[in-house]
Amino acid sequence: MKQVYLDNAATTSVRPEVIDEMVKVLKEHYGNPSSTYAIGRHAKALIENARKVIAKQFNAASSEIIFTSCGTEANNWILRSAVRDLGVKRIITSKLEHHAVLNTIKQLKDEFGIEVIYLSILPSSEIDYEQLENLVKDEEKTTLVSLMHVNNEVGTELDLKRVASLCKEHNVLFHCDTVQSVGKTRIDLSELPIDFIVASAHKFHGPKGIGFAFIRKKNVLKPVIFGGEQEKGLRAGTEGVHQVVGMAKALEMAYELLETEQKYIAGIKDYCKKRLAEVYPDIHFNGNGCGFYNILNILLPVSEEKAAMMLFQLDMKGIAVSRGSACQSGSQKPSHVLSQFLSEEDLKKPSLRLSFSHENTEQDIDVLIEVLQTL
Ligand code: PLP
Repeated sequence: MKQVYLDNAATTSVRPEVIDEMVKVLKEHYGNPSSTYAIGRHAKALIENARKVIAKQFNAASSEIIFTSCGTEANNWILRSAVRDLGVKRIITSKLEHHAVLNTIKQLKDEFGIEVIYLSILPSSEIDYEQLENLVKDEEKTTLVSLMHVNNEVGTELDLKRVASLCKEHNVLFHCDTVQSVGKTRIDLSELPIDFIVASAHKFHGPKGIGFAFIRKKNVLKPVIFGGEQEKGLRAGTEGVHQVVGMAKALEMAYELLETEQKYIAGIKDYCKKRLAEVYPDIHFNGNGCGFYNILNILLPVSEEKAAMMLFQLDMKGIAVSRGSACQSGSQKPSHVLSQFLSEEDLKKPSLRLSFSHENTEQDIDVLIEVLQTL
């Protein structure tokens, strides 16, 4: 049975070149980067080189890149330290955020009594920019805006330039969860005044268990994990050298191949939209279907009974797609993202998130359509 993987927003396969680099490090460069003898120093050099490679992709300084275990950790660290150490008293965010941000902010509200404002979501699945503009004008309270760049469920893209400039103009900190966009679009941090971004290697064909935070120099965060002096004491714990090297290789390749792969993946998404519309003339694309080029969230015009079994049946036929975000799969609750802008009635219908990579082909889409037609 042909396996069709259409869940690249959940995670991606690791590029063979990345695996090769990682295996080489595991075999040959096993020294502890904190050790002072040669193999330790060599491991340390590999980490610093990876940091340089990563920083270069964003026109950032190497010292602004701090390695973490994943995107969730990076988000937790930034938000917590912003409240605890930078005096943030008010967070403006949205209910479209990933749980790594939503639940962290909720926890911080409970612990520190900060004010949290959730922006209204328009039917197009976008935030209300005008509301944000009005809110940031109030400069009374130290404020942080936390908004994701690309939504992981519908692919809605934030106007980064608009939000970053607005925050800068009003002296507001801006944290952007860029887990879904790093490696998939260019982010020039020398031009965009964003204070914090985060990334996770497994979203751009790198290994799981490694990510990073970009912390602009002027913002001095303090650690949430204490121990040794790794990452200048900001994130203790012996570094996974192979993970760091793998992440840098994956990111470098993602940006080298960006234009070609972007065009190819956008073509696959267009083909998918076209084929779906042929089969279901009244299909609806959530968020207008015009979100980021690798994500397509579809609302299928089928009954509730059919909907309940759909993911299971697709799985039985070797097709991996997601209902909402990966972290929720298996749960019967409606997606916290879709419930922000879909009607009660539409929420009962099955919504599927399809997310593509350079490895997908039109044939994969044909297999999906063929199976959908039998359900
Ligand atoms: N933020 C977004 C937008 C995501 O899509 C994800 C993962 O799905 C995360 C954060 C969490 O990243 P990680 O899996 O590295 O913890």
